[in-house]
Amino acid sequence: MNLDSMYQEIILDHYRNPLHRGLRDPFDAEVHHVNPTCGDEVTLRVKVVDGVVEDVSYESEGCSISQASASVMSDLVIGKKIDDAMELEREFLALMQSRGTAEGDEEVLQDAIAFAGVSKYPARVKCALLSWMAWKDATAKAMEPAVASPAASAHASPVDIDVPEQEKP
Ligand code: ZN
Repeated sequence: MNLDSMYQEIILDHYRNPLHRGLRDPFDAEVHHVNPTCGDEVTLRVKVVDGVVEDVSYESEGCSISQASASVMSDLVIGKKIDDAMELEREFLALMQSRGTAEGDEEVLQDAIAFAGVSKYPARVKCALLSWMAWKDATAKAMEPAVASPAASAHASPVDIDVPEQEKP
């Protein structure tokens, strides 16, 4: 069994049949992230209820890796406690930053393990991480105390929907 081709098959399958795709209501926060090096874009919404990721919905454009990763990420985090999902994100980030030296824990990463080979290609790592970073950002926004404070939200600045956020180098 060739692991690389098996992983490639998982990525292609998510690319061809993306899970949880399409923007849905209700949601607590929406973000738009771009990966300027490849031209990938994702608009992503999260809904959080009682510390659990109730829903993640998204629209994405770009390469097969970025789109497959959005499908895998959303499927993995939906239904998980925020803390567990954040732990998973750290696990995936570590794998992506390993430059091909880490194998990753399949028990934990499930389909996300298929991106292990991508870590060998620094130019593609951002493609695989785009939707994870967007999810983390949106979840942080969703958890902001302003949501629970009518006084604070009344004076909140205009929502930054559709403003592309520059990736930090
Ligand atoms: Zn890409």
